[in-house]
Amino acid sequence: MTYRAIHCLGCDEPHLTHRAAITASFVAARVFGGSASVCRLAQCQSCGLIFFEDRFEPGEAARLYADYRSEAYYQERHHWEPWYSRGFNAGLGGTKEMRSRRETYVSTINHYAQGVAIGSVLDYGGDRGQLMVGGPGHSHSVFDISGVESAPGVTGLNAASLADQKFDLVLLCEVLEHVSEPMHVLQDVLNHVKPGGLLYITLPNLEFPFTDIPAGAWYQHYLKLLLRSCWLTLLADFWSTGWKVKFAHVPPLGFAKMHEHVSFFNPASLETLLRRAGAEILGCEVSAQGRGLTALCQVPAIT
Ligand SMILES: [Zn+2]
Repeated sequence: MTYRAIHCLGCDEPHLTHRAAITASFVAARVFGGSASVCRLAQCQSCGLIFFEDRFEPGEAARLYADYRSEAYYQERHHWEPWYSRGFNAGLGGTKEMRSRRETYVSTINHYAQGVAIGSVLDYGGDRGQLMVGGPGHSHSVFDISGVESAPGVTGLNAASLADQKFDLVLLCEVLEHVSEPMHVLQDVLNHVKPGGLLYITLPNLEFPFTDIPAGAWYQHYLKLLLRSCWLTLLADFWSTGWKVKFAHVPPLGFAKMHEHVSFFNPASLETLLRRAGAEILGCEVSAQGRGLTALCQVPAIT
């Protein structure tokens, strides 16, 4: 079963504020073989990181993401979230989304890392590795748990072939918000950056304000009552998901749900995490109309 985080996962401080939330029906069924329940969201009073205090064990995370591009995954998720469409699943990493992400990637490297020689590039968790195509470097590799076929010109690596290889530039895009232990993953990824090399990171910027979620005890009772009805839960989920996607807020009588994203960073919490991991921050910007965070770091050269 899950374990509980009692310190901030970004800065390690113990001062946390809590609010009630729910475990998504899809996650409860797929990972735990159960039904949705009330859980807790925490916010660090020091760096502002928001995260679910219950964290997935490695085996649970593997179950959540297993074959996430398959028809079986689509059917199961669509059952619990009817608005999750076949088009959305197929469009993950599609051309339009990729064009915009690639523009941000190339312009960030050009802006902050002009004098840095880039030959080898690794996209860690980078799907087919399509983001790197046409960008810096002459050798492109990708490591992704989904096992999808890599894009033309990109070398697909598994854990064994990645081993202790190091690269001039490593990309870690839309990964940290999914993982139970962001610091462990970050440190693991930094081990694959050569001394003096670069780490490029993107992730969502604060997906909703913590203050959107009521603090009173009534709210937890309300969520428990809501969860007694599958249909009411589904309606409130649709209402909440729509608001979060469109307005970056949790609506009145809506909820935050423990789903694929289990941590919600802001610029301060991301910068704190990066510094604690020993990376030198060259730039950290809010992008994509305030909805994204982009950071470029350098690993200290050996002197
Ligand atoms: Zn913190």
